[in-house]
Amino acid sequence: CGIVGYIGYREAYPIVIKGLKRLEYRGYDSAGVMLYDGNDLKLCKTKGKVSDLEEKASKETTTNGTIGMGHTRWATHGVPNDVNSHPHVSNSGDLAIIHNGIIENYAPLKEELIKRGYVFHSDTDTEVLVNLIEEIQKKENLRLGKAVQVALNQVFGAYAIAVFDKKNPDEIVVARLGSPLAIGIGEGEYFIASDASPFIEYTSNAVYLEDGEMANIRLHKPMKVRKIKDDSLVDPYIQELQM
Ligand code: GLU
Repeated sequence: CGIVGYIGYREAYPIVIKGLKRLEYRGYDSAGVMLYDGNDLKLCKTKGKVSDLEEKASKETTTNGTIGMGHTRWATHGVPNDVNSHPHVSNSGDLAIIHNGIIENYAPLKEELIKRGYVFHSDTDTEVLVNLIEEIQKKENLRLGKAVQVALNQVFGAYAIAVFDKKNPDEIVVARLGSPLAIGIGEGEYFIASDASPFIEYTSNAVYLEDGEMANIRLHKPMKVRKIKDDSLVDPYIQELQM
């Protein structure tokens, strides 16, 4: 399983697809992509290979946008099928998430969200997390980064996640605990991936998040890295990759 993300000035789709192919060695049963073109979140998801995803996307013209996220899924909760594939979108349609890992306590959280009127379309633990983030964001009127942080302090499990909010489309929030996550830092662009292979030809500067850290990745702003638990700022170690 793997995750890839891009925010910058290039077309995101080819970067994301090529990146997913480089992460195929990690194993997966389904794949999906989300593109943001300035107006809408466009999703394409399928059981099967990244090449199946490309074929489906080519028919659905979902491929424009300079912000994108892609995922290869290794199903843990819910069978491998199109609906259970990532990205998952929140009930409002504003938030999109990709997630590798497991949310152990998704069942009680899901029950609580259903009581509050949330509807679930998939059987995944991940769809619970994205709606939990949305519920916290709405209830406490928080920006995405803060809402992600509050949500992650309510879950147990393992994750590498990337979350996008179309209400603030200059930003992607990422976090990791127990699953790898690398961030490539370019000029006017950022890359996100399970390892550096998806972005090695674009930048030689990378930050590997440590367990328990999250990052706010904002266009034209320096990246901020924090501890999920106590909100303390971390000075990220920027590694020079060998190209
Ligand atoms: N637990 C999530 C799911 O089943 C993510 C699985 C993964 O790591 O790909 O959808």
